[in-house]
Amino acid sequence: MASRYDTELAVALDAVRAAARVCRSVQAKITPDVLQKDDRSPVTVADFASQAVICRAIGKAFPNDPIIGEEESGTLRREENAPFLDRVLMELRDVGIETCGKEACGWIDRASQKTYVPRFWTLDPIDGTKGFLRKEQYAISVALVVDGQIQVALLGCPNLMCEAGGTQTGALLYAVRGQGSWAVSLEGDGPPRPVHASQESDPTQARFCESVEANHTAQGLSAKVAAALGMTREPQRLDSQAKYAVVARGEAEIYLRLPAKYGYKEKIWDHAGGVLIVEEAGGRVSDVMGKPLEFNHGFELLANRGIVAANCQLHPRVIAALEEIYAKFPSPQGIPAPPNK
Ligand code: AMP
Ligand code: MG
Repeated sequence: MASRYDTELAVALDAVRAAARVCRSVQAKITPDVLQKDDRSPVTVADFASQAVICRAIGKAFPNDPIIGEEESGTLRREENAPFLDRVLMELRDVGIETCGKEACGWIDRASQKTYVPRFWTLDPIDGTKGFLRKEQYAISVALVVDGQIQVALLGCPNLMCEAGGTQTGALLYAVRGQGSWAVSLEGDGPPRPVHASQESDPTQARFCESVEANHTAQGLSAKVAAALGMTREPQRLDSQAKYAVVARGEAEIYLRLPAKYGYKEKIWDHAGGVLIVEEAGGRVSDVMGKPLEFNHGFELLANRGIVAANCQLHPRVIAALEEIYAKFPSPQGIPAPPNK
């Protein structure tokens, strides 16, 4: 039986798979000297090409749907960046999309919506760019938000194992509100498998994950949370929304993203894909105060600070521990203080 959002899901699955092929192709060309020279050009090319692929697909199927995305083509259109644009066009050609610079930039700019509207898509063409450059974890994240609620969410994680303990790399997780979370291979073979969060209720057994980048999350503070809950395991550090995938699949109980910088507002494309997948897998997601995330303020989570994603059993315990810890570190403006303040 056809269900609501079937077409949206089918279009987005194809688009994420094509974008993943682009990202893998660009990543395979990264040589050690690129990293040494701190050359971000591969991520620039892959970012734009991935965004072009996904915006093209959404634009074709749903021409009236705005997209709130991370990239804009402004820099790509500049004369001096013509070689970048050529590389983007080459990557698109390799996934069967013949186009010109003007058309590709037009696709990219479909994602220039900034403000809230009742129905929109949000897109991070490569989340975790640092992980992408290090050839570690990164994610392609797409979500459809209707009336402020995420209805469809997808996370392509090209470097995450297809299944825990398996040998195939490349995970694609998706969720439609009310229909559970599912995993398929990025290649598109095999039937979808249901995804469930862990049932662990003993915090001493809990596994938690967080960003590799210390300026994206207060790692010292999460160590305090872990100690307060009696957690003994070292955190699993990985880039991108792959952290949501890990919690959704029950390979970790908790994902902590604790504000590390005063005034930083989380961007919706860094979370929308992962949030619904964790929730539909049976987990819970809120900000660090336990407040539900609000996706009706434009491109930022203006009403929230930080993120706690966890299984249902442990989520309230984490929020209670955070409340106590933040009470010990009072800060101006009500913004959670870094632990060393
Ligand atoms: P992660 O890979 O989980 O460390 O997250 C990568 C994302 O962090 C990027 O897509 C950025 O949008 C976002 N980001 C950048 N600066 C900050 C910050 N100060 N706090 C939290 N997230 C940030
Ligand atoms: Mg991102």
